[in-house]
Amino acid sequence: MQNYRVFTIENGTVIDHIPAGLGVKLISILNAMSGESIVTMGARLPSKKLGKKDILKIENRELTPDEINQICLIAPKASINLIRKNEVYKKLRVVMPSSLHKIVRCPNAKCITNHEATDTKFNLLEGKEKYFACHYCEKQFTPGELAEKILA
Ligand SMILES: [Zn+2]
Repeated sequence: MQNYRVFTIENGTVIDHIPAGLGVKLISILNAMSGESIVTMGARLPSKKLGKKDILKIENRELTPDEINQICLIAPKASINLIRKNEVYKKLRVVMPSSLHKIVRCPNAKCITNHEATDTKFNLLEGKEKYFACHYCEKQFTPGELAEKILA
């Protein structure tokens, strides 16, 4: 085992198994820097699952289901632990949601949702590969494509 130091937190959220290089992106999506919370990130740590991984710790903040849905678009293999009083209070599985409401913009420039004040909605399609279809223009996108369009 590699010898590296990881900060521990008393209360908050730990997001582990983020693909290496995407930790910074998650920080911005979660707006983690806006509050009072201490945010620590480990980058390019060795991982059996991913080769290299990033890990993110946000003190005194527990993520909402919407935020967890955003994470799964970027880091579908992430594991999320809620920490209370130095202990893992809850382990959350990141599951691809069956639909996304108001979380991402439609990548199709011609889609009505990009021209009228309409909430966006995407539905996960059945099948081995993960695709979401826009409820309005019906175009299909991968989670990675939608991750580029996450609403701040
Ligand atoms: Zn659309």
